[in-house]
Amino acid sequence: MTEPLLSVQDLTVSYGRVEAVRGVSFDVAAGSLVTLVGANGAGKSSIINALSGLVRPSSGKVIFEGTDITKLKSHKLVPRGLVQVPEGRQILASMTIAENLQMGARFYGAGASAGIDEMYERFPVLGERRKLAAGSLSGGEQQMLAIARAMLARPKLILMDEPSMGLAPKIVNEVFKVIEEVLSGGTTVLLVEQNARRALQAADEGHILQNGEIVRSGASETLLADDDIIQAYLGTG
Ligand code: ATP
Repeated sequence: MTEPLLSVQDLTVSYGRVEAVRGVSFDVAAGSLVTLVGANGAGKSSIINALSGLVRPSSGKVIFEGTDITKLKSHKLVPRGLVQVPEGRQILASMTIAENLQMGARFYGAGASAGIDEMYERFPVLGERRKLAAGSLSGGEQQMLAIARAMLARPKLILMDEPSMGLAPKIVNEVFKVIEEVLSGGTTVLLVEQNARRALQAADEGHILQNGEIVRSGASETLLADDDIIQAYLGTG
């Protein structure tokens, strides 16, 4: 069997005495879209922040391309190909789209700016409107910009924390199109979502989180076809 791109082993994240994540294990195969879904406070952000080096796990291991990266901080992970798109997007609204991308390119180091033109091709909305303030973009387009900016690092694995949060259903579909575009370019995606049904529809595999633990895992279509799961975790809508 081929080695997974990412292997999360018995991960625990605590804030003082609060155990936000308890013994979570899962793998992400190269080229796949894996989603972690669960309600508010289930521990999704804590897991993704632990993987990207923003939060120090209290125990467990994170293996990326066969190397133990558990204790590495974000700035050491980006050059290895592991990049997070932050929750809340952190777009600089008064700066132009081009300036937002240039700042990202500078942040990711020399060479990344060459990727800006490629992003304009892959996401034409950004290219057409590159001289406009990023704040003039719709919520979905701002998410597109945040993802394009992260893609300048040429990640092997991109971590996304609730990219559809706060967006109208029609816009959510646009964001999922962006995610599909990222995947089609060969980048592996780990997606954290409260919008469980939509995330599972897009993903190859899913893990359902509840109170810091994975309660169900499987191929997305299996999870979506399971009436008990739909009743318990996905609502009837
Ligand atoms: P959300 O959708 O609200 O982001 P989530 O599933 O991502 O939820 P987390 O943000 O990981 O969940 O939070 C998991 C638990 O850890 C919650 O009980 C939360 O209150 C707690 N928590 C998160 N961050 C901290 C922190 N910095 N200090 C203390 N407790 C925290």
